[in-house]
Amino acid sequence: MSLSARVSTLCALSALALGLALPGGAQAQDEAAIVGAEKARDAALAANIALDYVTQLTTRFGPRPAGSASETAAAEWAAGYMRDHGFRNVRIQEFPLVGWERGQESAAIVGANPQPLVAAALGHSPATPEGGIEAEVVRFATLEAFQAVPDGSLAGKVAYVDAGQLVPMQTGAGYSPLSRIRSVGPGVAGRKGAVAFIMRSAGSDEHRMPHTGTTRYVDGVVPVPAFALSAPDADQLSRLVGYGAPVRVRLSSTARTYQTTSRNVIGDLPGRTRPDEIIVLGSHMDSWDLGTGAIDDGAGGAITLAAARVIADQGRTARTLRVILYGSEEVSQPVETGNGGGAYLRSLSPEDLANHVFTGESDFGADRVHTLQLPVGVQTGAFADAANRVLYPIGVLRSAQPEREGGVDIGPIVQAGVPVFGLKQDGLRYFDLHHTADDTLDKIDPEQLTQNVAAWAGLVSLVANSDVDFRAMAPATPAP
Ligand code: ZN
Ligand code: ZN
Repeated sequence: MSLSARVSTLCALSALALGLALPGGAQAQDEAAIVGAEKARDAALAANIALDYVTQLTTRFGPRPAGSASETAAAEWAAGYMRDHGFRNVRIQEFPLVGWERGQESAAIVGANPQPLVAAALGHSPATPEGGIEAEVVRFATLEAFQAVPDGSLAGKVAYVDAGQLVPMQTGAGYSPLSRIRSVGPGVAGRKGAVAFIMRSAGSDEHRMPHTGTTRYVDGVVPVPAFALSAPDADQLSRLVGYGAPVRVRLSSTARTYQTTSRNVIGDLPGRTRPDEIIVLGSHMDSWDLGTGAIDDGAGGAITLAAARVIADQGRTARTLRVILYGSEEVSQPVETGNGGGAYLRSLSPEDLANHVFTGESDFGADRVHTLQLPVGVQTGAFADAANRVLYPIGVLRSAQPEREGGVDIGPIVQAGVPVFGLKQDGLRYFDLHHTADDTLDKIDPEQLTQNVAAWAGLVSLVANSDVDFRAMAPATPAP
């Protein structure tokens, strides 16, 4: 922090201690900006406008796999929706990716105990040979145990990793290690010589619904067909393997990849006095193919669009609000270029990027926001106090932990230095529904959706009318 920033922080803190309205400054918050943010918050609670967007999106277009005709049509419709609701400079940014189409699939136990299994192919999994694959299952209880067997030792077998159910948590904390099995498992299977890979779904429900999601193949390893079993089917297969006799399965899939394009939809509400300073509110337009992508992530678009609209209804903000509905968050292949977040970053000049002052992403369903995480260096002080005043009445507590990542969509601009905030949502039931056929509109609780919009509207209004330079508040990174 510079000396002048330090001095103005001290001034802001002492003014706050005296209960005075604060002049502009590195950390000062004027009373009008706080009152405006409270008004935006309350207008959001009263208006309940977010449900309209996600209702129309999921009803008109259903599932929206990255690069599909449905994602394209949804993006064009969403651009019109933005224009109809007052957004300016609405544009569609196209970029190439390798798409994936599920086709037909089936899974079954064969041999002495024949029975069907409920399974879904993982995104970017190749097809099986015509007629399917039939082979003996080798089960592993952890990814590490699977990785530890010698290369080539599973020749002709189906590798099965059942690392147990995801434990529901407010933070969704258990998801990462299980989704890692999905990302790397099929590549490991190829290296070990297996003919296919199956896993217990990365989910917390006990319904007979597999959770899909993308997988990644490592260069030089032949991709093998990969599937996720629903929780009861994983239980069933693991019990049968535990009885000791060899268990054979038959797997079939007609999935294919194809060259296509995806697109980001971008719309602005230009700032009044500092239009060059941009706040990016992100979410993603694409979804998996099994449900209709209501909680993942139609809800995120609904929340960010509604928050921006509610703020604009209070009058033009000082800074520009930019809502981006990113394409290809779920697939992101090729990894370097096939995702909306990267495409957006590449479209920015260094000067454009330097003008991005704040960003956040909504991609964790529609259940209530409970915690605010501010950018590094902003956890305490006048701005954090002001944010707390706006958000505390709707049950959002300020965290001492800074936000560092945001999410997949805004990740590239965050890594490029844009300060990021997090409005953390209740994740207790998110992974019951995530990437399943049950991710549908009826799972959105309108009241909790509205509380999300109120939290976003309050915080973003405060930032949009503030002159806090969040970049300047980050501690200097140590020289490498
Ligand atoms: Zn998502
Ligand atoms: Zn997802």
